Amino acid sequence: MGGGFNLGKVFGIQVRLHFTWFIIFFLVTISLSWQFFPASYPGWNQSLYWVIGIITSLLFFASVLAHELAHSLVGRVNGIPIKSITLFIFGGIAQMTKEATKAGAELKMAIAGPACSLVLGGIFALLWWLTRGVIEPVAAMAFWLAWINVVLAVFNMIPGFPLDGGRVFRSLVWRFTGNYQRATRIATRLGQGVAYAFILGGILIMFLLQEWLGGLWIIFIGWFLQYAASVSYRQAQQREALHGFTAAQVMTSDYMAIPSNITVSQLVQEHVLFKGHRLFLVTDAGEVRGMVTMHHIKSVPQSNWDMTPVEKIMVPADQLKVVRPEQDALSVLEQMDENDINQMPVVNERRVIGLITRDNLARFLRTRAELRV
Ligand SMILES: [Zn+2]
Repeated sequence: MGGGFNLGKVFGIQVRLHFTWFIIFFLVTISLSWQFFPASYPGWNQSLYWVIGIITSLLFFASVLAHELAHSLVGRVNGIPIKSITLFIFGGIAQMTKEATKAGAELKMAIAGPACSLVLGGIFALLWWLTRGVIEPVAAMAFWLAWINVVLAVFNMIPGFPLDGGRVFRSLVWRFTGNYQRATRIATRLGQGVAYAFILGGILIMFLLQEWLGGLWIIFIGWFLQYAASVSYRQAQQREALHGFTAAQVMTSDYMAIPSNITVSQLVQEHVLFKGHRLFLVTDAGEVRGMVTMHHIKSVPQSNWDMTPVEKIMVPADQLKVVRPEQDALSVLEQMDENDINQMPVVNERRVIGLITRDNLARFLRTRAELRV
């Protein structure tokens, strides 16, 4: 999910705000300060509604973040590394670089989020109980936060993948059948069913109850869940299709070796423009010195192409992440995700024997699907 900015790291996990988050922050704050608090607690100072509304809204999103952090930390303990957490219009997403390999790990990780929301709900309920009748604005805030955290826990436990409840459901089917692929298929199908139920429910709410905005919102959530469920299903299929193949089997030899002393301009003229190569291994006397991609070429202003040797722009060999030929193809994809790279040389006894790129992994999957092999 692009289009956002980094807030910093919490427990080593990058926290990001997607630009759609500002829409939901605005809507939540408005509905609290304009409707909920004035209607439920008349007689406050006008600016107090806004101060409490903004603080409540911020604490709500902190609660969403805590929910995602709970998933992430439990995931990490169970061997599922989490790269980043993104807050966006429909809540939060923790980006995993690989799926759980054991049903138990998935179950613990999935339960952690709703459990965290329930605990937070309890803490805010306690705060409400301590402050009610004493400090009304704090009690009002705590009351709403207690309620919304419980709603968050309950909503997420709906058994439609990729909601937490869907993950819990998958881990149980997985444990019961011992078949991850089948469990994912059942859980994502159920997830799509739940998504369509949301869309249908939203339409009914719009036309039967005349609740236009509320209905529309539920339709949007349903539409998003349907999208997320189909993406998860496809990814699971792809992962399954890569599993059991080695790096040597899926690598390509479609790359060029070039000497380190040629200039960027020579490289572009001789190899990129007319022959269409996009990826180069820089070698001197058979030994790998580094790698150059289109991305590196574009990072040099065209006026400097004549003066810049490729040596200057390449990723040097000692910084290259490499793959062993016997390595599992799925683990290569996971390594790429983890390191945010698009290609990895396959190295056998210090010699490059091939290259794996995201493109050729995708092509491999397409071919398998096309030929049904
Ligand atoms: Zn969750």
